[in-house]
Amino acid sequence: MSDKDITNGTPTYVEPAPVHHGEPNPFESMMARFDKAAEILNLEKGVYEYLQKPVKQVIVSIPIQMDNGEIKVFEGYRVIHDNILGPSKGGIRYAPDVTLDEVKALASWMTWKCAVANIPFGGAKGAVKCDPSVLSKVELEKITRRYTANMFSVFGPDMDIPAPDMNTNEQTMAWIMDTYSMHAQRTETAVVTGKPLIIGGSLGRVEATGRGVMISTLEALKKLGLEPYDVNVVVQGFGNVGSITARLLKEQGCKITGISDISGGYYNKKGIDVDAAIDHCKKNKSLKNSNFGEKITNEELLELECDVLAPCAKEDQIDKDNAPNIKAKLIIEGANGPTSADADDILKEKGIMVVPDILANAGGVTVSYFEWVQNRLGYYWDIDDVNRRHDRMMSEAFENVYETASKYRTTLRLGAYIFAIDKVAKTLVLRGIYG
Ligand code: NAD
Repeated sequence: MSDKDITNGTPTYVEPAPVHHGEPNPFESMMARFDKAAEILNLEKGVYEYLQKPVKQVIVSIPIQMDNGEIKVFEGYRVIHDNILGPSKGGIRYAPDVTLDEVKALASWMTWKCAVANIPFGGAKGAVKCDPSVLSKVELEKITRRYTANMFSVFGPDMDIPAPDMNTNEQTMAWIMDTYSMHAQRTETAVVTGKPLIIGGSLGRVEATGRGVMISTLEALKKLGLEPYDVNVVVQGFGNVGSITARLLKEQGCKITGISDISGGYYNKKGIDVDAAIDHCKKNKSLKNSNFGEKITNEELLELECDVLAPCAKEDQIDKDNAPNIKAKLIIEGANGPTSADADDILKEKGIMVVPDILANAGGVTVSYFEWVQNRLGYYWDIDDVNRRHDRMMSEAFENVYETASKYRTTLRLGAYIFAIDKVAKTLVLRGIYG
């Protein structure tokens, strides 16, 4: 990455991307698993090379007039890893330190997630290098609209469909939909997902990722011969994914004995009142200054005595140092990349079942797919329809991964990668190489 930023006309120093000293970052961890799965599948060299590289990388300049009248030029990216299974799908993030390499890695991650979830989409990711915390709403709207206009030939309901990611939201998606529609001279709701309900969003989308984590947990418990009302669950992270996972698992009869957020954790062996914790978070923006149980650190939380551990906060929480101390029987990865690759073998040796991120948190992209389907149908499903279809697809995805892992006598994580790579590679071979 360059250390020069041209956002205000004069070169300024920008913080380099975080370096993981000696530790692999989550994307390297993902590639480590991709390589292992490709080896088990004995993937042909040419196909391996094809699937390693993105098919398209677009960089655009985004000049906008700031509120003070100055012109600033931002940089935007869209990487399409592949469109083998269908149009590419993936979020757009706004961050000051985002790099093309990071976007490339995230795009390939989407390919495997869509393939595992049985969604007819390829993988993509986009980004704008900017710091939303110092931009006004008007400036953010201008950046979003100019980025979309510059990507008009890349995006499209049959080509590439963005969604929200870090620092982008429903409003950002509404601006993308509107800008694309203005250029296309027709209303094109299906060009982007994660829209507000009123302009073509889907019911159930906000809860979808947590709901998918809940379904994955229930499926895994069945395989372990455990009943939901017999198990204790500890959830790390109490944002969108963690809080909904905790609430839905409690509704299924599980006892939630530990929760945490960035401010710290709580342990209560009698069970935590999850609804009260959600209310507390709504009012106070975090779990801080509450009394849901004994106060513990996030490090202690991961090592609690429990049946199910659901890391739903951020990457690299379980590593080779704390993996030997984990006592859960089952880990459900609500977050992306919460387990580092070098912890996999330790968890396997300990006999802990791990439902990997590309399966466990695929509920979000599944309901994004439903949003696209409803937009194209012009007919909108009620919440029961959305949830029923979601639950069936998540259960089927779990079963596919479980069967693949059993067939190859490996972990669910490698099973998921093998299933995904095999499916994409077979489709590629059937379609053939044009040229
Ligand atoms: P969020 O911002 O709503 O919540 C994150 C939560 O994690 C907050 O409670 C925060 O306080 C907590 N947290 C942050 N750092 C922590 C730390 N060091 N220790 C403990 N807790 C910490 O985010 P989210 O949308 O719930 O996403 C959580 C994870 O799930 C991320 O890895 C994200 O990529 C992944 N994910 C989210 C979705 C989605 O639909 N929201 C879909 C797929 C994957």
